[in-house]
This record gives sequence, structure tokens and C-alpha cells, in this order.
Amino acid sequence: YTGKTQSQLLTDKVKKMTVSAYESIPVVVQESSSAYDAICAMFLEDVGTLFVVNKDSVLTGALSRKDLLRASLGNQDLSTIPVSVIMSRMPNITLCHSDDLVIDVAKLLIERQIDGLPVVKETGKGLEVIGRITKTNITRAFVELAEGEFE
Ligand code: ADP
Repeated sequence: YTGKTQSQLLTDKVKKMTVSAYESIPVVVQESSSAYDAICAMFLEDVGTLFVVNKDSVLTGALSRKDLLRASLGNQDLSTIPVSVIMSRMPNITLCHSDDLVIDVAKLLIERQIDGLPVVKETGKGLEVIGRITKTNITRAFVELAEGEFE
């Protein structure tokens, strides 16, 4: 017996929870896509955040529901507005890697007041989006922890 307290055992479990076990498939749009197309993608793919990539599939931005609502407040034609003008852009995108801890991602979501992060991988050209982790994934991780599914 290691002599660890219940609280230490819980901490050990939390520190073993990595992004790779909880991430979802990312939904990406090209920066040349219109705001109108981005809204369609959000509904069709049932996500709240889209990640934006350039022609080389390199991460360039993030687009939230409110970014699209804001763009739709002006009386402009959404099909003529490229997402690149309304997205939040690199280098100001908060991101993570597959081997990062879920607890660290949770802290970032709180600090930055955002709903999700892209999971990225370095390539020769830049950062490729390989996943996404959101408040929903973190909530699932929390429940699994409580139900002891994460041994
Ligand atoms: P909503 O705006 O729909 O409430 P968020 O809280 O996730 O959704 O987004 C708030 C703002 O932060 C938006 O302008 C969005 O573009 C931006 N944002 C979303 N995700 C990220 C991220 N991972 N890194 C940086 N900015 C982000």
C-alpha cells in the first residue's frame, strides 16, 4: 500500500486525463468561406465553434456563434463576407496538444472565457488542426471521473 490519501489518488487520476482521450473531431472551414457558409456548417455539423484554415490546412482563426451573430447585425449580405474578416485570428488563438492535460485545458477555457480549443499538431507548414476540445468534452471527463470509469 502506497499510503496515498483519497485526495492524492483523485489528483493522480486527474493528472492522467489527457486531451487525446476526450477530444472530438474538429470542424474546419476555409478562410475564403463566407459567413453564410459558416452558419450552415455550424448547424450541419452541430458545433458551436469552427476553426478556420488556409489553403495549406494551417490554422488561421476561430469563429464562434457570437462572431456570426455580430456579423449578421449589420445589414450586409452574409454570403459576401469572408470568415477571415470576422474571425479571431492567430497568434491570438488559444490552442492545445493531444498530450496536454484536460485540467490545463479547463483552466484555459475559464481564463480566456471561451468554449473550446483546437487540438493542433506541428507540420512543416504550420499548425494543423487535428481535434477540438470543448466545455462538453470536459463535462464528460468530469462525469467519467466521478463514476470511476477512468481507472
Ligand atoms: P461565443 O462568442 O459564441 O460566446 P466563445 O465564448 O467561445 O463563443 O467565443 C468568444 C470569442 O472568443 C469569440 O470572438 C471567438 O472568436 C473567440 N474564440 C473562440 N475560441 C477561441 C480560441 N480557442 N482562441 C481564441 N479565441 C477564441
